[in-house]
Amino acid sequence: MNFSNLNTGVRNVKNVGKHIFGMGSLSNLKEIIEKRRIQKPGNTIFFLDNFFSDKNLLSQLNVVKSKDIVQYINTEEEPTTTFINNIRDLICKSSNVYPSLIVAIGGGCTLDVAKAVANLITNPGNAEDYQGWDLVKNPAIYKIGIPTISGTGSESTRTCVIINPINGLKLGMNSDYTVYDQLILDPELTSTVPRDQYFWTGMDAYIHCVESLQGNYRNAIGDSYSNQSIKLCREVFLSSDMQSDLNREKLMTASFLGGCAIGSSYVGVIHPFSAALSVVLGIHHCVANCIVMRSMENFYPIAYNEFWSMVSKQSVKIPAGICKNLTDQQFDQLYNATIIHDKPLTNALGNDYAKILTKERVIHIFQKM
Ligand code: ZN
Repeated sequence: MNFSNLNTGVRNVKNVGKHIFGMGSLSNLKEIIEKRRIQKPGNTIFFLDNFFSDKNLLSQLNVVKSKDIVQYINTEEEPTTTFINNIRDLICKSSNVYPSLIVAIGGGCTLDVAKAVANLITNPGNAEDYQGWDLVKNPAIYKIGIPTISGTGSESTRTCVIINPINGLKLGMNSDYTVYDQLILDPELTSTVPRDQYFWTGMDAYIHCVESLQGNYRNAIGDSYSNQSIKLCREVFLSSDMQSDLNREKLMTASFLGGCAIGSSYVGVIHPFSAALSVVLGIHHCVANCIVMRSMENFYPIAYNEFWSMVSKQSVKIPAGICKNLTDQQFDQLYNATIIHDKPLTNALGNDYAKILTKERVIHIFQKM
């Protein structure tokens, strides 16, 4: 079979430049920043998850200088193109030279905002011009990613997901320039994540890999990343204490490997449905994935059973009945926002995916959530 629309941008794989892994590795940040400032003078832009706004983290690390910009990211809503454009304007007004570097400390949203802004500073136009595959022309600002929750794999992927509020398109800037130059992977940072959030986000790694392994577009390296990531997720979520020190190390590793896996493959049926829940109903990516798992028995029967046994083992909550009182117009929107994702759907179901996912069937799938 010929899957021609899958052949863009994933064949020659770019990985993260450097990474440091381990409990307490955040203490290396200051030295890395100082080295970079010598190589490339300019200010430093810090993006931090709102969670840290009252935590004094940056002053403890002693890394902020007077001309630097510290921007807290409200992660209640997923980042939009307008938001990215506004931050780019603010940074460009602050100095007439490019920043020395960008540092992101937070979850998937914060890591994605930093990636998008780093691309946009060195490229003309607006964020919406770069949603797609390999549209970014100039190398981005040097950037350091420091995840504080595990699962999305944003730290290791070549994309940064943003929503265009004008046309409803939820799509990343898929580019080699989007990949982080440096990561600090410190599992100490994930010790305060609430249980449900820890589970929902961790399952994003599991789901990425399940979708990759069951797709049409496969390669041995991507499969190896996926298999190892799934193995680690099982160890974490089928254990009695999913948030132990060892399990937080394992989940941070699974997240990184899961990101590498989709860097050389594609997701499948779950992510398009999940994206529709985010775009139409404003539900966050990771919990949306878990909600979609309510209706995935026919597409991913083994993962479906395993997923629900993990939910039961960890006694976490997965919202139910979210499509109960929707209007016909909302179901139309959900259908359109799902079927638009041709690459993952082709990967999962082949070129004729739209014949398999008829409108009636898609609506029925949503109704079961
Ligand atoms: Zn995901």
